[in-house]
Amino acid sequence: MIGRHGGGAVLFENVQIFDGTGAERFPGSVLVRGNRIARVVVGSEEIDAPEAMVVDGRGGTLMPGMVEGHAHLTWPSSIEKVINAMALPIEEHMLTTAVNARITLDAGFTSAYSAGSLGERMEVALRDHIDDGRLPGPRLRASAMEMDVEGIIGVPKGHDSTHDHSIPGLQKYVRDMADLGVDTMKFLMSSDDGFSPGGAKVLLYSEEEAQALGVAAREAGMWLACHAQAAEAVKRAVRAGFRCIYHCTLADEEALDMLEEHRDELFVAPAPGLLYTRINEAEEFGIDRATAERMGAVAGLEAMERIYPEMKRRGIRVVPGGDYGFPYNPVGRNARDLQHFVDLLGYTPVEVLVAVTKTAGEMVGFDVGTIEESRLADLLLIDGDPTGDVTILQDRERIVAVMQDGSFHRAPPWQSLEVYSHSLAQ
Ligand SMILES: [Zn+2]
Repeated sequence: MIGRHGGGAVLFENVQIFDGTGAERFPGSVLVRGNRIARVVVGSEEIDAPEAMVVDGRGGTLMPGMVEGHAHLTWPSSIEKVINAMALPIEEHMLTTAVNARITLDAGFTSAYSAGSLGERMEVALRDHIDDGRLPGPRLRASAMEMDVEGIIGVPKGHDSTHDHSIPGLQKYVRDMADLGVDTMKFLMSSDDGFSPGGAKVLLYSEEEAQALGVAAREAGMWLACHAQAAEAVKRAVRAGFRCIYHCTLADEEALDMLEEHRDELFVAPAPGLLYTRINEAEEFGIDRATAERMGAVAGLEAMERIYPEMKRRGIRVVPGGDYGFPYNPVGRNARDLQHFVDLLGYTPVEVLVAVTKTAGEMVGFDVGTIEESRLADLLLIDGDPTGDVTILQDRERIVAVMQDGSFHRAPPWQSLEVYSHSLAQ
């Protein structure tokens, strides 16, 4: 539980409710008590809660807080500050990470599943501070460092895949991370064309190693995530019981069949934003179109455009988000993924809104993602109708309120003073 909630009651009136289930928006009212949604009513029926502070939604959309499915809060660049490096001195790095958590929440993402950290305990510490209400940020599933081959992203000393890639070494690594309080670990089941030409087809973990990771993770209560491009990397991850399988760009028919067969146990996130910006918007950072092509971004995005409509057709749980934190794809721009899903991957606005709320809520495993009675009160008030145009969610000014755990991270501007006195009165 986020420890910051006021414990009071808030009544949203004059709102159109998008509840995250895929149902059409409907006019209604929502009562929040403490950190939970206490009542949802349709139409003009009144909720009797004289103790509640009334928030006039002015006809805007009340929707569940969004959930980022592939966060890298330790990746430095944000919409507030471009930092053209990954490694920073640890002091700046930790503070930058905390700022990025706040920026992510500002952007309407009230929960996040981490897809890898640049420090072993950075996200554990961050998560605990957020949970205690000492720092603003999304409810976080904290990750260990991303495990990879030498020199790609940075390998934790003492937990180095190249130094101890043995089965017992890998299993000990999982147990050690569980002891540190890590929720999820990410492994590079395949490399990537962005790391080295042809890398997407290079498998980095054998079937036996993947299976051993699966066993150790189940025993330790750890969730497993992976970067997987090659079809066989996807299959190994499915067979080993990985919860989140990222990218899947080279998935073949058999891999798609396996993902479909296990669709109730796993989630997939393509992360199109990085490829899109690498192709179209990275020139000032030294990546022109030819370089982007060499890095596999063009082919990767084309593959996503083929595969993800098919994943959707098969009912595989696909979530938006991913790889924000690069200078040209900064933290805080995460909602742009929704537009990519609509423009490139064959999703309707409602479908991608369900994916970023209900489905991604299932992925993080908190009691969030829909507006239903008794669920946690993570809510956004939007000026406009995102079910008609998802791009408005990229505009901070249109996200007029962000409620997390029943209290306002950002109150509607017409109500801010009242919220302040209301919380003082608690
Ligand atoms: Zn990533």
